[in-house]
Amino acid sequence: MSTSAPIAHSFTPTGVGRARLGRIETPHGSVETPEFMPVGTQATVKALTPGDLRDADTQMILGNAYHLNLRPTAERIARLGGLHRFMAWDGPILTDSGGFQVFSLADLRHVDDDGATFTSHLDGSTHRLTPERAMEIQALLGSDIAMAFDQLVDPALPRAEVAEAMERTHRWAERSLAARGRPDQAVFGIIQGGIDPELRRASTAAIAALPFDGIAVGGLSVGESKVEMSATLDVVADALAEDPRPRYLMGVGSPADFFAAVEHGIDLFDCVLPTRVARTGQVWTDAGRLNLRNARFQDDSGPIDPSCACETCRNHSRAYLAHLFRGRELLAYRLATLHNVTWTLALLRRLRASLADGTFDVLRASVDLAFAHR
Ligand SMILES: [Zn+2]
Repeated sequence: MSTSAPIAHSFTPTGVGRARLGRIETPHGSVETPEFMPVGTQATVKALTPGDLRDADTQMILGNAYHLNLRPTAERIARLGGLHRFMAWDGPILTDSGGFQVFSLADLRHVDDDGATFTSHLDGSTHRLTPERAMEIQALLGSDIAMAFDQLVDPALPRAEVAEAMERTHRWAERSLAARGRPDQAVFGIIQGGIDPELRRASTAAIAALPFDGIAVGGLSVGESKVEMSATLDVVADALAEDPRPRYLMGVGSPADFFAAVEHGIDLFDCVLPTRVARTGQVWTDAGRLNLRNARFQDDSGPIDPSCACETCRNHSRAYLAHLFRGRELLAYRLATLHNVTWTLALLRRLRASLADGTFDVLRASVDLAFAHR
């Protein structure tokens, strides 16, 4: 790895759309791409230990500057040795800057050119995030990849408002870069611009012109249609052209979304979906979604997915999981989450293999079929 760059990225085109197979080397290890990152918002992927994450072959997880700075605070985590040591995860970590949480969680937010003031959803206290503070928080956390601070808006807002937030995001991108806090931390810029092709093109050009270590696509998966998302990814991919940096699609998604993102040249994505739905009893399998609360599983002695190698599938029946969920037993959350993370990351491994051996369309069709009709 170069001594001047915190991460190194290499990839080869695959001939499948714009899909590429690659590797990102970070200070805490390498990540084979395309890859899905489980979300560990509060310094924990809910219900799983770091050992569980290792068993699931997790390569990189996501943490969240907004949440971690409200509690326990970035300064406290820094005093305790940084986020890797705090949560006992020694693999790569990407932290989000807080732009999305200010948009989706914060009450009484006020955004001006300097930053965003908001009321904590935890205790009503007032906080302010600026590009400089968002970068300082992420430097204190010590993640391998930090995100620039951006302003996300509802893409359904009038074009002038989407454009204003996009322009502000570009100014904040420059300030985020100027405020980068440590040489061993990569910084990714975030493209905004809603679903307007002209704005997306302009935003892609503006962010790609800056010396970021990677490029993220933000502002999607917030209510637009699949067609709109795909069209927007086309615009971004065209505008990025041969740009060699890693590409990260924020907040996506479902098994079908993975294939669409990869086909558009995306290398990384994250989403709370597999872990969130697991805690409601929904598990993902090669046969599609199963709801373990369904009465038909109470006498089903088979594993969640016979092809899955996770601890849950090796040892426990659907009937046992159905019983645990009915009793709201705590173990239900761990076993279901461990399965969904393991299955999802195994799907990404199969996806990477399919790009290498020319069976991408076959795998995609089987996943689309399994997840379409249930
Ligand atoms: Zn399993």
